[in-house]
Amino acid sequence: MKFTSSLVFALGFAAQSLAFAPAMAPKLSTSLNAGVLSKTTGQSSLDPAVIAKYNSLPFPEDSILAEYVWTDAVGNTRSKTRTLPAAKGKSVESLPKWNFDGSSTDQAPGDDSEVILRPCRIFKDPFRPRSDGIDNILVMCDTYTPAGEPLETNNRAFAAKAFEGMDDEEVWFGMEQEFTLFNLDERTPLGWPEGGMPSRAQGPYYCSVGPENSFGRAIVDAMYKAALYAGITISGTNGEVMPGQQEYQVGPCVGIDAGDQLMMSRYILQRVCEDFQVYCTLHPKPIVEGDWNGAGMHTNVSTKSMREEGGLEVIKKAIYKLGEKHAEHIAIYGEGNELRLTGKFETASINDFTFGVANRGASVRIGRDTWDEGKGYFEDRRPSSNCDPYLVSGKIMSTIMGPEAPEITPLDKEEA
Ligand code: ADP
Ligand code: MN
Ligand code: MN
Ligand code: MN
Repeated sequence: MKFTSSLVFALGFAAQSLAFAPAMAPKLSTSLNAGVLSKTTGQSSLDPAVIAKYNSLPFPEDSILAEYVWTDAVGNTRSKTRTLPAAKGKSVESLPKWNFDGSSTDQAPGDDSEVILRPCRIFKDPFRPRSDGIDNILVMCDTYTPAGEPLETNNRAFAAKAFEGMDDEEVWFGMEQEFTLFNLDERTPLGWPEGGMPSRAQGPYYCSVGPENSFGRAIVDAMYKAALYAGITISGTNGEVMPGQQEYQVGPCVGIDAGDQLMMSRYILQRVCEDFQVYCTLHPKPIVEGDWNGAGMHTNVSTKSMREEGGLEVIKKAIYKLGEKHAEHIAIYGEGNELRLTGKFETASINDFTFGVANRGASVRIGRDTWDEGKGYFEDRRPSSNCDPYLVSGKIMSTIMGPEAPEITPLDKEEA
């Protein structure tokens, strides 16, 4: 069902009469809807004893719960659940296709609203664990019209084309997902005073410890464990430069799997934040006033030949190709990225392509280890935290497999 404006009006009207105070009319666009509900309504949904009562009920042993997850029109994840015979959960091939009402997600017109979900990748469901040796599952899906055409927003289908026939390259991606945690007011980052700024500038918060520096560790740790349980190759995590900002890394993952794993990791992150009742945004520059770092999704890349003897030369050639197509990459590296790629706060300007060794002010960085060993991987620092991982990995793949490009002079070592 689509929320028409008349329905929103009707709901708003009902809410107003319930609250008996027009001044308290709730903003239905916010997640809180405060003022309509009594103070205790909904609180028991976070009560561990209440939740445990239902969690302790066994699942029927011949059935599983499958949570079908997909990417919506604005790049967020959505999901819905179905019961399936346990045997069907063994492989994506045996999982049925499903559908959803695309008119409610801006992914289909109302008069032909069905969008088809095609299962692509299975993970264990960390939110519905069971003790009988059978797994409930999360299913990463992509989206098609009933006629079988990928939706315009199905960037996985675009990426799959870029990786087609490229198995021999054994391309690996390691994605560093940065994100920012806020109070439920969606305005106050964790650890910040309401309506104000931290009294200390950034500096002590990166990889920090201590209650005055580190905000949201329990959330990141919960997410880390849930991701590991799910089967995601999460490789690490660290506190970020702006207080309330955090990062985890996924990878190395091979080819299209990087996109599947990263999207599912975002889904898990949002579910964990739901439990903690903390708002999480992937906006690349959630705080524009003051001197605060933005949030990115640095993407580390290597092919088999980059990881072998002489790999540094292959890496340099790939970087020249990326330089040649800088504008095309920026165009798909995430919305609002121009607020982040200013040339300050460990970024390069959005207008120029640069590369350097160990240089965090470059568009693309070659790590010290890779430089010294003459092989390894490179880091594309341009993608924003809200970028689409399928688009980014697919675009990098097609560019570095494309025609040779003229040499680019690296930034001076002194700038590193
Ligand atoms: P940074 O030093 O930029 O903060 P991180 O340690 O946060 O880097 O992330 C590096 C990412 O690169 C990790 O996800 C890691 O698994 C991945 N990675 C490591 N080696 C390779 C490789 N050869 N190819 C691609 N990705 C790699
Ligand atoms: Mn990192
Ligand atoms: Mn980082
Ligand atoms: Mn990085």
